[in-house]
Amino acid sequence: MIGLISATAAGASGRDRLAAAWPTRARVYEGSVGDAVRRAFAECDQVVCFLATGAVVRLIAPLLGDKASDPGVVCVDEAGRFAVSLVGGHSGGANELAREVGELLGAEPVVTTATDSVGVPGLDTLGFPVEGDVAGVSRAMLDGEPIALEADFQWPLPALPSNVRSPDVRSPAPDDGPAPREGRYRISLTDRALETADHEVALRPPSLVVGVGASKGAPVDEVLGLVQDALRDAGLSAKSVAGLATVDAKAAEPGIVQAAERLGVPVVTYSAEELAGIEVPNPSDAPLTAVGTPSVAEAAALVRGGELLVPKRKSARADGQPAMATCAVVRRPARGRLAVVGLGPGARDLLTPRAKAELRRASVLVGLDQYVDQIRDLLRPGTRVLESGLGAEEERARTAVAEARRGQAVALIGSGDAGVYAMASPALAEASDDIDVVGVPGVTAALAAGAILGAPLGHDHVSISLSDLHTPWEVIERRVRAAAEADIVVTFYNPRSRGRDWQLPKALAILGEHRERTTPVGVVRNASRPDESSRLTTLSGLDPATVDMMTVVTVGNTATREIAGRMVTPRGYRWQEEAK
Ligand code: SAH
Repeated sequence: MIGLISATAAGASGRDRLAAAWPTRARVYEGSVGDAVRRAFAECDQVVCFLATGAVVRLIAPLLGDKASDPGVVCVDEAGRFAVSLVGGHSGGANELAREVGELLGAEPVVTTATDSVGVPGLDTLGFPVEGDVAGVSRAMLDGEPIALEADFQWPLPALPSNVRSPDVRSPAPDDGPAPREGRYRISLTDRALETADHEVALRPPSLVVGVGASKGAPVDEVLGLVQDALRDAGLSAKSVAGLATVDAKAAEPGIVQAAERLGVPVVTYSAEELAGIEVPNPSDAPLTAVGTPSVAEAAALVRGGELLVPKRKSARADGQPAMATCAVVRRPARGRLAVVGLGPGARDLLTPRAKAELRRASVLVGLDQYVDQIRDLLRPGTRVLESGLGAEEERARTAVAEARRGQAVALIGSGDAGVYAMASPALAEASDDIDVVGVPGVTAALAAGAILGAPLGHDHVSISLSDLHTPWEVIERRVRAAAEADIVVTFYNPRSRGRDWQLPKALAILGEHRERTTPVGVVRNASRPDESSRLTTLSGLDPATVDMMTVVTVGNTATREIAGRMVTPRGYRWQEEAK
């Protein structure tokens, strides 16, 4: 819950806007300000105060306890110009909240947490649990102190600054001796239960899968106790458990569901048929009769491959009754991550927040050099940039996939939408199912141009690339003809280059066989870039010589009109037809 507090009428109007935007997330605290702050601080996960920072500092000073449990506090000035993340920037989520409040109120978020403001990822923002001397190691990261990153196995991490050095990935055996030390500071990426020393943190990637089997009615304490014992005895950390895995028939078994809830992880289930096909060291007859597979715990943990760290074990019952639960623990193979990210047509504010987040999450960036230039300033220091020139598509696709298969977090970028005449399809055609793939849509050129021209895409429309580099001209011509006959609005990508000058006139001529000479045609060059230009002409008025590779050409259908200098394709509403 987010507590909202204000002292004056000006503050109350901002407060009410947040309350209206967050009907279930926020609660207004009325009454004397001091009292309201005290109550909200005790009851809420986060607090937004429409008060001066000085006033809030004085009020919360006696209430502050521990960073891990204190709420995150954001202060907004009465004029609503700034949303200041005051305490609990990372752990209390105040930095994120300041950004959200900023978006809602049009206020500037003010974030002073060192790691956020200089672009170094906060250790607690990497997306998985971290233990140990977080403050000390974060400070060392900023101060440029040498820090050793010791990973028990490869895991896709964002770029870390150059003072974080990574010796080779160690052998994953749980009983490995201590690793060689470098410098005083250490980041261990591990699922082993280790005591962190001073100047050391342990990052807990979700690398463990616990397979569980349970008889009907197995108590949650028995299931959970078994899982915890198995992890402890094997020297593994519960914080690295990615999920519990079982057979479909046990998807709603309360003991399993509640154990997962208490561990804070999801339950994943597989069909008995699929589990029966998995080779396991300890099959048995009991589950075969009950659910149709000789193994539940081991098989469910091993379905996606990996190393069996804890073979099947049964719960121990104090009352001597037969065990009702089994479990097995597997370290799953690390999966690299390939994000295919569309950067939009050019302008920074047409780059989506999700695209930005993916760029900052990557440790390896692959792209065409001119697109890399577009976003270089957004990358984390230390991101490895693999850029290449036009024509090197095959190399880019292969490199991106190969890096992901090595376990890296890779962002493969493209302008507009990366799936439209761009890198997504060549890359995914190369990719096997051993990596995770995430697509981030971008504003493609046809949409950027459409918004500039007016509403040319108001009815059915297609995009056609006139580049016959990879597509025989006969195929392109057939598609243009089909669009012409079907009276569909057409946007031409790659319309014309120095060596390809006859295709556009030919395509326009085909459309001209089915549309009036006066059909509106929009030409947009460098949409949303500093030298953007656009013009509205007609099918017979378009001079192809004015079109180049930075341009898209949108040809209207037979209903498209120029209205007040804008290109409009009607949707065919009856009320508009009648008004004519
Ligand atoms: N993936 C890109 C398209 C790549 S094909 C996208 O979704 O937009 C390259 C062609 O896209 C160019 O020849 C041009 O026709 C068009 N294009 C890309 N960006 C453009 C922009 N900002 N303005 C106008 N046309 C653009």
